[in-house]
Amino acid sequence: MTVNPLAPPWLVHPRDANELATSVWSRNVARTASGEIAVAGVTASALAAEFGTPLYVVDEADVRARALAARESFDSEFARVGSSAKVYYAGKAFLSTEVARWVTEAGLYIDVCSGGELAVALAAGVDPARLGFHGNNKSLAEIDRAVSTGVGVIVIDSVIEIDRVADAAARHHRQQPVRLRLNSGVHAHTHEYLATAREDQKFGITLGDAPAAVAAIRSHDSLDFLGLHSHIGSQIFESDGFVESAKRLLALQAELLVDGPIPELNLGGGFGIAYTSVDDAMPIEVVAARFADIVASECARLGIPVPIVAVEPGRAIVGPSTFSLYEVGTIKDVEVTLPSFPAPGSSFPEPVDGGEVATRKYVSIDGGMSDNVRPALYGADYSVRIANRNSDADPALVRIAGKHCESGDIVVHADYLPGDVTPGDLLAVPATGAYCWSLASNYNYLGRPAVVAVRDGHARVIVRGETEADLLSRDAGISTGSMNDRDAP
Ligand SMILES: *Cc1c(COP(=O)(O)O)cnc(C)c1O
Repeated sequence: MTVNPLAPPWLVHPRDANELATSVWSRNVARTASGEIAVAGVTASALAAEFGTPLYVVDEADVRARALAARESFDSEFARVGSSAKVYYAGKAFLSTEVARWVTEAGLYIDVCSGGELAVALAAGVDPARLGFHGNNKSLAEIDRAVSTGVGVIVIDSVIEIDRVADAAARHHRQQPVRLRLNSGVHAHTHEYLATAREDQKFGITLGDAPAAVAAIRSHDSLDFLGLHSHIGSQIFESDGFVESAKRLLALQAELLVDGPIPELNLGGGFGIAYTSVDDAMPIEVVAARFADIVASECARLGIPVPIVAVEPGRAIVGPSTFSLYEVGTIKDVEVTLPSFPAPGSSFPEPVDGGEVATRKYVSIDGGMSDNVRPALYGADYSVRIANRNSDADPALVRIAGKHCESGDIVVHADYLPGDVTPGDLLAVPATGAYCWSLASNYNYLGRPAVVAVRDGHARVIVRGETEADLLSRDAGISTGSMNDRDAP
């Protein structure tokens, strides 16, 4: 085995570069006897032949099972401490009418944060009473629509919004349930959290401003105060940040209970998932048990009743369920001269070319940052496997690059693939169910890929891919005939 010096320190050189780590792949993905990746019995090559590439492939039973496990874990853990729970699916991770129905059938509520997301949930037939509406800058039209359609709860994000929601509710003769989003000063990064008096960000209001804001909410007959809300970040692996924010919110809750009831507490989402085999995500059962333990013990310490606790996972429900399927186009071995680091105490502190050369294999695929912007946006890491076959070739360090006109257009910064990876191979990148389709763009006029759901040996399109005609359809220069000096298309 040869470890490539260009490999990041965390990347383990695999014994078998065909292996599918169970923490990263959805539950119904496996290799067939012939070595192909298949999901719920449908092979990668069959999917590529029927639907084309790039393609998002969702393991439907996996989404349903994760949604159910989330609801059942929070239900049973909060029943254990004498309360109950509500699990909202954060629709921004990936929302389509099918996904809205799957999570609703599993007993989840849904969070939306724009008129467009609300429209999708309503088009899916979701009971508006099971929707939460978020956002730091909801338009007046969005507030009006949310109130008039009977959205279950609106999360108020600023003092300005209190009157806006109250007025809309009065106009529609409703008493609108609301939560108040707090900036708790706790912010979780992927592997750490910060706890400050105040956090420098746009969401919510500070703990110090909360009593006056809650009093203002309570003063409106058209508002029904459900409780406090905080969301401390995303892709969180440790429970410390949640513990700290629960403590801060419950201390405030104890103060505010003097002037009226507060039935619920929303602790947000952000539960991490595994993107590569070195990520170690907490199972949802463990997250639910920790939340119940901390909320129950803090409430006991403060002498207040345990509220109904709401949580809002997005990534943890859909992220692991999906892989992106691509076809390899070109391959290049790029020779990189490694830096040589000066001896300690040297008068030349800058690294210089050491003369030693290593090779990075650039494997280019037919998609890229337009269907998965997370590596470019956040430096996110993913892993990759050849999907249409097994191979015994020695593993080679690869970088999976897209086809866009940006050198940062990378989908997988570093992984090992069998060294005989070749044009025409299919590649599968797992854990792309959250924040990939929903953040997709048309950069370079690539159509956004289709989303296909596979269940029990059957694959069907749940979101159609964009065609060139779709892309041209919004160009007013074509539809108004201003290009009439050219032949009709
Ligand atoms: C994004 C978001 C979530 C979901 O975050 P995940 O990391 O997908 O679990 C939940 N609540 C709020 C307010 C959010 O903005």
